[in-house]
Amino acid sequence: MTKIFNFKNDINEEELNIAANCIKDGKLVIFPTETVYGIGANALDEDAVDSIFIAKGRANDNPLIVHISDFSMLEKLVEEPTKLEQKLMDAFMPGPFTLILKKKDIIPDNVSANLDTVGIRMPANKIAHDLIKTTNLPIAAPSANISSRPSGTKVEDIKEEFQNKVDIIIDGGETSVGLESTVVKVIDGIPTILRPGKITPEDIIEITGICKLSDNLFKKAEGVVESPGMKYKHYAPNNKCILVYSDKEELLIKLINSNIKEKTLIIGNAKNKNKYNCYKYLSYGTTLEEISHNIFSLLREADIYEPDLIIIEGVKKEGLGIAIMNRLIRASSYNYIEE
Ligand code: AMP
Ligand code: MG
Repeated sequence: MTKIFNFKNDINEEELNIAANCIKDGKLVIFPTETVYGIGANALDEDAVDSIFIAKGRANDNPLIVHISDFSMLEKLVEEPTKLEQKLMDAFMPGPFTLILKKKDIIPDNVSANLDTVGIRMPANKIAHDLIKTTNLPIAAPSANISSRPSGTKVEDIKEEFQNKVDIIIDGGETSVGLESTVVKVIDGIPTILRPGKITPEDIIEITGICKLSDNLFKKAEGVVESPGMKYKHYAPNNKCILVYSDKEELLIKLINSNIKEKTLIIGNAKNKNKYNCYKYLSYGTTLEEISHNIFSLLREADIYEPDLIIIEGVKKEGLGIAIMNRLIRASSYNYIEE
């Protein structure tokens, strides 16, 4: 039976120790971070890592991110970072940021999907930090969701799908950011965003003067890609979904209205709630921060109404909007209309 520990108000030290011992014993623990919930195992234990892939139904060519609590854990795991990589880590760790570094042999091949690199992240969330610190091990943790489904941002959304598949779920309430970390790799001396997130290209340019976006952020990647996770169906509700965007609001509303069917559910801006003649409207808030915080849970909620179609209002691909659109384009299986 999966145990649920409630750390919403404060961390129970005794239960934290139980969770840490579970990880040390090669078992799985779901825990909150500031981005999304993670399903974690000892990153140095190949069998434990295998059980993450099984619990999620995840393809084994999709690598995991390794979570650390302190820089002192780094030396054992990766080759010495360059000055530029160190600068990025100093600026954005702890935080919603993952840096791809050259791995040492101690990292099992299933963590890195046979690549010679590994993604390293230091969560800022106190529960995540304390769990890693108490375990005193690096924790490999992808997002806590069955593969292809929206990432888990609150325990209510994911506890059924992981019932009896993990030992412990730590409930820390809703995650604050709501989208996964920004994944960066320094390629030919240029910080390159492989997966956009809360840390934006502007944030990175401020530190390093330069930043590139990977080519595949808004389109389907095939064959060999820099970041294997780019290939898969991702973040998707069960019902058919389309994403619509225009920077002219009137046109956006017209476009959406012309696509509405009998039982269409719309996920969009709170201020547009009454502008559509639709079966159900779910508001994702008004600011990019609110949208990022709410979107995964809303994609799951949408399915409950069994709509014939889900239409999502897109946002401008700027700042945090880049990460939101990167997820939404995949959630809608590339059914994207922009005018
Ligand atoms: P998630 O499973 O949601 O935590 O996503 C982890 C993502 O990080 C993967 O899908 C990849 O896109 C990316 N990633 C992790 N490790 C690497 C790596 N060594 N090289 C490139 N991308 C990576
Ligand atoms: Mg994921």
